[in-house]
Amino acid sequence: MKNDVLLEVKHLKKHFPLKKKSIFSKPAGSVKAVDDVSFSVFEGETFGLVGESGCGKSTLSRLITRLVKADSGEINFDGQDFLRLSGSDLRKERKKIQMVFQKPYESLNPRMTVGEIIGAPFEIHHVAKGAEKEKQVKNLLEMVGLSGQYVNRYPHEFSGGQRQRIGIARALALNPKLIICDEAVSALDVSIQSQILNLLNDLQKEFNLTYLFISHDLSVVKHVSNRIAVMYLGRIVEISDASGLYASPKHPYTQALLSAIPVPNPDHKKEQIILEGDVPSPVNPPTGCRLCTRCPYVMPICKEIEPEFMNVSEGHTVACHLYSSSNQLLNNDTLPLSIKTS
Ligand code: SF4
Repeated sequence: MKNDVLLEVKHLKKHFPLKKKSIFSKPAGSVKAVDDVSFSVFEGETFGLVGESGCGKSTLSRLITRLVKADSGEINFDGQDFLRLSGSDLRKERKKIQMVFQKPYESLNPRMTVGEIIGAPFEIHHVAKGAEKEKQVKNLLEMVGLSGQYVNRYPHEFSGGQRQRIGIARALALNPKLIICDEAVSALDVSIQSQILNLLNDLQKEFNLTYLFISHDLSVVKHVSNRIAVMYLGRIVEISDASGLYASPKHPYTQALLSAIPVPNPDHKKEQIILEGDVPSPVNPPTGCRLCTRCPYVMPICKEIEPEFMNVSEGHTVACHLYSSSNQLLNNDTLPLSIKTS
């Protein structure tokens, strides 16, 4: 894996204003979907992004692809200041970022043949047409494990797994550098999930692709990711390489999420950490640490001051006051929580 940064997100913010009840009423506040998020993705790696639904993962993916306009922050992609690009420069760079969506049927136009769906990016970006386009579409179908003979079929003639392969073929059409897989296997059966994950893995090796793999399913993310970021209520709370995160999770939220993963061997049961209460509304998140209303280790400072990111080991950062230098809990043995992962 190369160590060049392909995507760098800095202090990215997106608040969606709530509708006013009438034109005379005061602004009704905003949903703080993504609130000061920063991370980097290296070329050729799979960067996992996990968190419960509603935590802002999908908004983040739409901000990166510029389907949604950011309020503030920076996105540097492939050496370009991505948020400042416009017109033909934006179109040129945008080709390098493609998405694979969660619902393979809904993301494919049922009125278009598979050949038209996969060939559409070639037409839109004037890359190929006619016989050359058809040849490339057939190549892409074979690359994702489908027959080139399927070009004239419609999406309803395929199974869920085959449709997701078509979605991947479409994402590959313009030779992207980054593919954002937004819950790309969540709607599939477990056996089909593994086939699609293996396909993504093979394609990554063949084309040195970089993946931003977004999922609520920690076991899937563990299986595919080199590094992982954990998101809670619009903010990232922990970033680590995958093995470090699963062996020694630091943030109480990460620990709770990991403790809920079922283990295959019942003899290796682990203690489950339950976070009390519901996730607060992103319209009115708690001040200080966003987990302070649910965290079993909450301290007075947590309700006042937002924790900054601390390095707890090489490449492992966490935003939690338990790890501030004054608490000196950097040694895992002294932590109040310790999860034994089997
Ligand atoms: Fe819990 Fe405080 Fe750490 Fe937040 S900062 S996770 S409330 S201990």
